[in-house]
Amino acid sequence: MTDRQAIELTRRCVRCGFCLDACPTYRLTRSETQSPRGRLRLMASVMSGEADLNADTVEAIDICLGCRACETACPSGVQYGHVVEHFRARIHESGIRARLQTDVKRGLMSAMENPGLFATALAASKRFSALLRIGTPADGSGVGSSLMPAPVASILSGTRGDATLMPDTPDDLTVGTLPAHAPAIGPRRATVCMLQGCVMRVLYHRTNVATMRVLQRAGCDVLCPSDAGCCGALDLHAGFMAEGAARARELIRSLNALSFDAFVVNSAGCGSTIRDYGHTLADDPTWAKAAAAIAAKTRDVSEFLDELGIPAPMGRFDAVVTYHDACHLAHGQGVTDAPRRLLAAVPGLKLVPLRESDTCCGSAGTYNLTQPEMARRLLERKVDNIMATGASVVAMGNPGCMAWIARGLKDRGSNIRVMHVVEILDEALQAGERGS
Ligand code: SF4
Ligand code: SF4
Repeated sequence: MTDRQAIELTRRCVRCGFCLDACPTYRLTRSETQSPRGRLRLMASVMSGEADLNADTVEAIDICLGCRACETACPSGVQYGHVVEHFRARIHESGIRARLQTDVKRGLMSAMENPGLFATALAASKRFSALLRIGTPADGSGVGSSLMPAPVASILSGTRGDATLMPDTPDDLTVGTLPAHAPAIGPRRATVCMLQGCVMRVLYHRTNVATMRVLQRAGCDVLCPSDAGCCGALDLHAGFMAEGAARARELIRSLNALSFDAFVVNSAGCGSTIRDYGHTLADDPTWAKAAAAIAAKTRDVSEFLDELGIPAPMGRFDAVVTYHDACHLAHGQGVTDAPRRLLAAVPGLKLVPLRESDTCCGSAGTYNLTQPEMARRLLERKVDNIMATGASVVAMGNPGCMAWIARGLKDRGSNIRVMHVVEILDEALQAGERGS
């Protein structure tokens, strides 16, 4: 995208202000520069040459979560996400940010997108963080293990960084691998290709296993090519456009020879990115057509299962459950009813509403590492709302939210389980097979 195209997108904004109260950072700060409308104006004035790029503008854009709640609220159809991603790339290229900070961010993205490297780096980081527990006062014992090593946090956030929380991650940090092909159980109703992802393979292989099992029980032949890697979501959302586009091409190349009805994704951030590949690679004559084709075939797993239906008998899942809308599912893909319908159909499950369910939890890719203060405020608010429901399980559809909300609940001493929607379906289907 060029500056001219991005400016055109900002011109759709009629400054009505309907987006203001949908924006988590505006709600917490009541500052126009921390609102979608204010940010659009700032970006437009820099891109048109009316204003210089300065530290205040960079801060306003850095504090934006990229949650796209403003797009859902906007009656004029302003594509805020495309504008902010373009502008973030512009910030990187301008050199206004300290080179070290940009390099560390880029390095962090690369590590997270490579499952083997991510698992190793995360394990090392956890061991380093555990050292912080030594000497921690008795009333704060255990807190140190959830902090990011201060030097890295300081560079990433531009602050002292000693209060940067790490998401809650499993002790066993190995890279999970699914079989390349898993046959449908019962009559075959569809052939799907499933994304294992990069972060998902390290943090939530259990969710990948559950997804494959549920798809098989729903009558799907499941293909899972081992060379299908990262989709580029982290890079693209952070404005590292060339790196993200390269990841997109690699993923499309790995799917080229396969024939399937749908590309099923269980991570909202990845799904929303892949659905936008037509835009990402629009100016690439070699890849534009294939990018648009894979985007059109991409479905979130909850949306796909809701459309297909789950014919296998369901057992009981006796629990009060509430549902958190991941931003890139609700705002990025417009999927809100399907997961709720799937949950409400499970015998024994009582679904209760969550206040501000579609407000960002503060995870937002690596936001919890780069903007620790705002991320923590949003997490506290999310945890308050979850605990107020009385639920024993909170369900969602994105790994970043799962790890971040699990951290918040754990630090408050809560036993509320954090589960992906497909994990609940999987447990209910297994109970059904046992006849319970
Ligand atoms: S709702 Fe849309 S048109 Fe209205 S101020 Fe916000 S971005 Fe602009
Ligand atoms: S993407 Fe989210 S945080 Fe950023 S302006 Fe829009 S609503 Fe606000």
